[in-house]
Amino acid sequence: MSKTISILGATGSIGRQTLDVAEQLGLRVAALTAHMDVERLEAQVRKFRPRLAVLTDEAAARDLAVRLADMDTKVLGGPEALLEAAVCPEADTVVTAVVGMVGLRPTLAAIRERKRIALANKETLVCAGQLVMDAADTHGAEIVPVDSEHSAIFQCLQGCADRREIRRLILTCSGGPFYGMTYEEVGKMTKADALRHPNWTMGPKITVDCATLMNKGLEVIEAMRLYRLPLDQVSVVIHRQSIVHSLVEYRDGAVLAQLGTPDMRLPIRYAMTYPERVESPAEPLDLLSCPPLTFAQPDRDAFPCLQLAEAAAAQGGTACAVLNGANEEAVGLFLAGRIGFHDIPRLVAEARAAVPAEQEPALEDILAADQAARQAVLDRA
Ligand code: NDP
Ligand code: MG
Repeated sequence: MSKTISILGATGSIGRQTLDVAEQLGLRVAALTAHMDVERLEAQVRKFRPRLAVLTDEAAARDLAVRLADMDTKVLGGPEALLEAAVCPEADTVVTAVVGMVGLRPTLAAIRERKRIALANKETLVCAGQLVMDAADTHGAEIVPVDSEHSAIFQCLQGCADRREIRRLILTCSGGPFYGMTYEEVGKMTKADALRHPNWTMGPKITVDCATLMNKGLEVIEAMRLYRLPLDQVSVVIHRQSIVHSLVEYRDGAVLAQLGTPDMRLPIRYAMTYPERVESPAEPLDLLSCPPLTFAQPDRDAFPCLQLAEAAAAQGGTACAVLNGANEEAVGLFLAGRIGFHDIPRLVAEARAAVPAEQEPALEDILAADQAARQAVLDRA
């Protein structure tokens, strides 16, 4: 059970919900970070009084330091300061809730200090899952997933001593706002349409990833890395109601599922209290007022990003870092209004074709593949 946490990405959707949970559980807060949201971080620091506050944007950090002159909290700026927050000695747990692969180096730094990693930042595992999981084994650091599907699987795997007992993992997928549309219809959707997710309120990048189904593709890779399983043991099923959060099918035919209302505070709370469970103020799932639970195949023709992710997963090595880097860059361009919805899979596919994949990559190879993928997207946008 966590006692003192640091949150990387405290001002975001996961970060704010983590602070709600921390308050309910009476956890102490050692360090909080954000990119440039000075006002929100200031309010969080005044409430939770961490030892360290970091803004990766230097100018924003200078502003925060002036505003917090009356407080004991140390304020640091710049991307390197994220590493300092990750290794803050008071914290036993680091919640990785930044968006994107900027989370990779701080996650590795926290692992080296044997912190529990409450992992929301899936891009890190997609790019460098092998490296991260190996480092966690070497240093004896626990990785507890926050992503709802992976938390569900983690919960369904409690008591499973031998991974060979697993036949497959089944990730549920809401289908996103464009479920049921054809490829042509999806292509006409705008940024405003993409930002309207039916079941969850999340940061803009992951919301777009949910609309393209790239999010589910990234989650397939995340699950493969977390549970060290090949692609053919990780499948995806559409489940519009987001009540069954994912399932594990065992060799004997038993299928275990975790159900709950769609509320990220549940998996966040479990990542904090694991291996215990503690009383929550949230309304429990009311089975009698649940809509009927339905399941369907994903449409890989209408949503090519899922196929692109599965192809990268099958190839392995730096292919997943290229996929992720290209997707981050393309989604950034889409959110800036510079490209259309179908340009996202097009640019990801072109970046994958342009950047050769290397097997058994070291950290530098992964960072280089990420950069090359981003450049390939910018060259073709
Ligand atoms: P948000 O966009 O809401 O928040 C992102 C956080 O990261 C903010 O604190 C932001 O600071 C900070 N940040 C942004 N860019 C940088 C940067 N370059 N360097 C350092 N910090 C940065 O994202 P979410 O909370 O939605 O998602 C966070 C992660 O969790 C993602 O990896 C996502 O895939 C994963 N996740 C999210 C879920 C959700 O329900 N939201 C569900 C499952 C997984 P600032 O506010 O100052 O910009
Ligand atoms: Mg998820």
